Amino acid sequence: MSDCLFCRISSGEARADRVHEDEHAVAFRDINPAGPTHILVIPRKHIATLADLTEDDDALVGHLARVAAKVAKADGQSDFRLAVNCGAGAGQSVFHLHMHVIGGRALKWPPG
Ligand code: AMP
Repeated sequence: MSDCLFCRISSGEARADRVHEDEHAVAFRDINPAGPTHILVIPRKHIATLADLTEDDDALVGHLARVAAKVAKADGQSDFRLAVNCGAGAGQSVFHLHMHVIGGRALKWPPG
């Protein structure tokens, strides 16, 4: 989808500070970081929201979670938060599924 920012980052058409990429996933630093570590993990496949996942995506979601843990560790974080905003009401602003990996500071719960 050429009108999707994260599809363009995935293809290399748009620039990002990438920290990981493989056949199925890309991870890059958030442009407006919410902590010392703030990395977004996205599937290369365009999926608008978490609610749009199908059974076919089960392995992909597991892969994304594993990439998230890997990039957190590579960034020096043993404690971190993995968050997915699903829908505008939950704060989703880019409609290409992404996991936020946030760490390097104290994280309160609930997030507010
Ligand atoms: P969300 O609000 O959950 O949809 O998260 C979207 C995230 O994408 C926000 O934290 C933005 O700061 C981030 N973001 C938007 N544009 C870019 C970009 N070009 N490169 C990196 N991160 C971005």
